[in-house]
Parts: sequence; structure tokens; C-alpha cells
Amino acid sequence: MFTDTHCHLASHRYTPSEVAEIVTRSLDAGVKRQITLATGMDDLQSSLHLAESYDSVYACLGIHPCDVTHAPDDAITQIEPMLQHPKVVAIGESGLDYYHPAPEGWSEADYHQRQRDFLTQQFALAAEQNLNICLHTRDQSGSASFDDCIKIYKQYASQVKAVFHCFPGSPEQAQTIFDLGGLVSFTGNVTFKSAKQIQATANALPLGSFMLETDAPYLTPEPHRGTKNEPMHVASIAACIAALRGISLDELAHATESTANAFYKL
Ligand SMILES: [Zn+2]
Repeated sequence: MFTDTHCHLASHRYTPSEVAEIVTRSLDAGVKRQITLATGMDDLQSSLHLAESYDSVYACLGIHPCDVTHAPDDAITQIEPMLQHPKVVAIGESGLDYYHPAPEGWSEADYHQRQRDFLTQQFALAAEQNLNICLHTRDQSGSASFDDCIKIYKQYASQVKAVFHCFPGSPEQAQTIFDLGGLVSFTGNVTFKSAKQIQATANALPLGSFMLETDAPYLTPEPHRGTKNEPMHVASIAACIAALRGISLDELAHATESTANAFYKL
């Protein structure tokens, strides 16, 4: 069996009845758990509601870097009481996004600083609540968002583990994360024909250092591109990585499931 360790079932791109079908199809495909991540103030409660509605769904609560200008200054304080829910398994989706331009009325410098402030607060909350954290990093070019995330992570690495999701980097960058006790996860873009770097990294990293995810509804893997992504497609991502590494699906499932169990404390 597999777990979709990072998806967005509360996305407005899915209708509530669609989510019921998506969860059923996921279970039928052997993707037995779906971890759904909130991104902003408006999907915190709906993410919790999904975790309550489906045995197989677990929730992460956090503010995505692209949502920090919509969130109030005390957003992270507002999340704290919701973390007591038994199906909350981590903080996220947090991180730094220097790829998208600053929203109107914001300078790039202020926008990035607010992202770093929210990230630091979410690390502090994770440490206080004994939870791990799921991170997004993205740059136009270079690796400034990754490097800044690592700087902030270093301050909390003795208390919190971080997963760098949708990891696009080199094995050397992954090693920087592993040295702090963190890990990475691979999504549907590993299946793209153009994704030579991601495939090389997915082949090189040791079992136990990475998890599998869809990031649904985004990043639909081959051979399903052109359709809306959903957690059952972890099966396609797993097949791609098992083939790259020349190992059986069972061996990959065994390793990625124990990694997910440890990271999300399932
Ligand atoms: Zn995501």
C-alpha cells in the first residue's frame, strides 16, 4: 500500500461529492491514506472537516507562503487550538515562494520578509506542539528560497523535522536537508520526460529519505496529464520511481510507508 503524503482535498477545484469519489478511487488503487494540507485561513476548517469525514484522510494545518498577505498578522496563533484535533499530523503547507511576484501593494522585499516571518512562526509552533512541518520552496532561478528555508530550519532542527515537498533539487541539496534530520518527497513531475534532474535525484537518494505525494489537484503525473490530479495517481509516481531504481513496488512501498509513518507519527 501507499500513502499520498501531500494533497489538497479541500481545494476549491474539487466539489464535495467529487472528494467522496476521489477517496474511494484512491483506496481502490491501494493508496490507503491521504494527507491533505491546508494553505490559508479559508481551508483550515474544511481540511479538518475532511479528516473527520473520512477514516483515511489526515490533515496538516498551516499558511502557504503565497497566502501570507491574505492572512491576518495573528494567523499562526489562530491555528494553535485546531492542532489538538487527533487527525492533525503536521504543520503545513508552509515554506517560501520567491517565484510568484509580490501581490499589488507589496514590495518584493516586504512580501518575502512576511513569508519568512510566517515560516519562522510555524516552525516555532511545530516545535511547541511536537509536530513536524511540510515546506514548499520555489524560485525563478537560483535557490534563494531553498537557502533561506534551510537557514530558518537550522534554528529548529533539534526539535522539528521538515519535509521539502515536490523536491526539484540535486542529491547535494537533499543532503543539506538530511544533515538537519529532514527529508524530501517526490510528486508527479518526476514522471515528466523533461524531468531528468528530478529522476536522477529520485534514483540516487537512499530509501528512507523520501516520501511519495501527488500535490493534487496540481501536477498530474504521466500517463494521466491533461486530467485533474487525485491521490490514486501516487500509484503512477511509485511505478515510475520503482522502475528508475530497478526495485519492486513492494520494496518501495515498504520503505516509503515506514518513512511516512515516522514523519507524520501515524
Ligand atoms: Zn501543496
